[in-house]
Parts: sequence; structure tokens; C-alpha cells
Amino acid sequence: MKLIDMHCDTIWKLMDLDKEGDMVENQCSISIPGMKKAGTLAQFFACFLYVEDMAGRYEEGYRHAHEMIDFMEGQTEKFQKDIALAYSYDDVMKNAEDGKISAILTVEEGGILNGDMGRLETLYKRGIRLVTPMWNYENCIGFPNSRERSVMEKGLKPFGIEAVKRMGELGMIVDVSHASEGTFSDILRYAKGPVVASHSNCRALAGHPRNLTDEMIYSLAGIGGGAGLNFYGPFLGTQDASYVEEMAAHILHMIRLGGEEFPMIGTDFDGFDGIERLDIPKVENMERLRAELKKKGVSETQLDKIWSGNALRILKSL
Ligand SMILES: [Zn+2]
Repeated sequence: MKLIDMHCDTIWKLMDLDKEGDMVENQCSISIPGMKKAGTLAQFFACFLYVEDMAGRYEEGYRHAHEMIDFMEGQTEKFQKDIALAYSYDDVMKNAEDGKISAILTVEEGGILNGDMGRLETLYKRGIRLVTPMWNYENCIGFPNSRERSVMEKGLKPFGIEAVKRMGELGMIVDVSHASEGTFSDILRYAKGPVVASHSNCRALAGHPRNLTDEMIYSLAGIGGGAGLNFYGPFLGTQDASYVEEMAAHILHMIRLGGEEFPMIGTDFDGFDGIERLDIPKVENMERLRAELKKKGVSETQLDKIWSGNALRILKSL
């Protein structure tokens, strides 16, 4: 079975957190041997810029994004027998024919544009194919998810509207994970290409502002988008544990509301810790979720869509 995971922070963990390891040997949930066991067709790798107290550090963030891209270019060169960068649906297919896993690059923190649209073009040229416009802070594009109503209602800024339009024109997926409700609806209004929530769950089942409300699932499904299931316990419903039963419940809720074309996988592997019990600690354990979904009555056809079919449809539409 072929797997496409729409979000991981493995580059960030290797470069910024652990400061050691590579795509084969590491302390991460994602590695080339693990992906081979899981049958990974493509893995989206985020260049996550953790510019903690934003002020003044976007420039450093932009430079660091380039270092992260350089790093992945180096890794795919070093391990070219098994993995290659992909910039399109056709690349993913070609890599698969050659027996290689595809690595697709994303940027998580659009604040690094720092108001400069030219940077979007540069990032596109360097291979970025999905942008998460903001993390958990307000930036030049707009407002993030928040427990504060006043922030949650705010949306895209004038530069953000132009940036979101440009992403679609260039051929980048716009990611509404981390967006405020206002930003979410603005993105749906202005986007000129595919929109996904790369790593978000259902707020009806886990009341976290990072998750999608039922209304958001309806509207995102209505424009042909989808959402990647996030494995982080608090987004699933339990503070310090990540259970397959809860994962399956979110997938079923997504199917019920958005249809079987809606759910995807967006593990968020290597982007969180502090979870004591992880039913799926590593990519090679993905089979456990598949078994649980099968037990809950999800058909093989639906499973194939969740595993990779829906993500491939989005890639094809770029
Ligand atoms: Zn994230």
C-alpha cells in the first residue's frame, strides 16, 4: 500500500533540535528505512521556522529556510538510490517507477516572506510546493488559530490576500492548518489553486483551535480540498496519549462530513513530543491505523484514498 504523509517536521528535528542524524540514521519517527517499510510514495517535509518571538527574526528565518532546502537537496543526493525530490505529480510517479520515495518540500511559517512577494517566487523555484501561511503567531500574511475570539475572527492582511493568490498561480498548495477561522475563510475566498489542512483534526471530537469545525470540513470538502490526520494527542482528544482508536474516530468523522475524498494523512511526526503513549511512534507502524480503520468498516478502496489517493488528486491539480 502506498502512503503519502502531508506533514512532518523531520528536517527541523534533525537540523535544529537534535543537531545530528540524517535521513537514514536518526532519532526521528521518519527515516528512509521506516518509509520503505511503510510503503511511502511521497513524504511532505516542512521547512518549519520556529521564530519564537517573531520580532525581527523573519530575515534569519528566510535564510534558514534556504539552509533547510540545501540540507534536503544534500540528503536526496546522498541517498539517491532510495529517495528523490519531487516537484509535481509526474515526478512522484516517475520516482515510484524508479523505486524511489518522493520528498516534497513545504514551508511552515509564511512570515519569512516578510512582505516580499519576490521571496515566494524564489521559494517556488527552489522546489517549495506547499505553504502553511502562518504558525501560531500573527505575521505579514494574517492571523493564526487562537483561543481568543478576537484573534480567531481576524483573517488575511492585504499582503496575505495577494500572497495566497500568488501561491495558487505559481502552483503551490495553500495550507489552512494553523490558520484562524477568519484566515481560513479568506483563504477559501481568494485561493487560485488547491487548499488543504495538511495536519489538522476535527474540532467536534477534540475541542482544540488547531482543529477544523464541522463547517470548515464542509466548506473545504466543497472546493475539493482535504485534511491530513494529525497524530498529536491533544488534537486527537487525549492530552498525553495518541491512540489509534481516536485517530480512526477522526477519520470516520471526516468521511461522514467531507466524504471519502476528504481525509488524508498528515502525521506531524517529529514536530511534537511529551506524549507518553504513542500507538504509532514511527512511520513503519502505520499498518496499525490501517488495521483499526478496517476493523471500523472502512473499505479497501476508501483506505487507498486516505493513504494516498486523495493527496495524489490534490498534487495532480497543481
Ligand atoms: Zn504545524
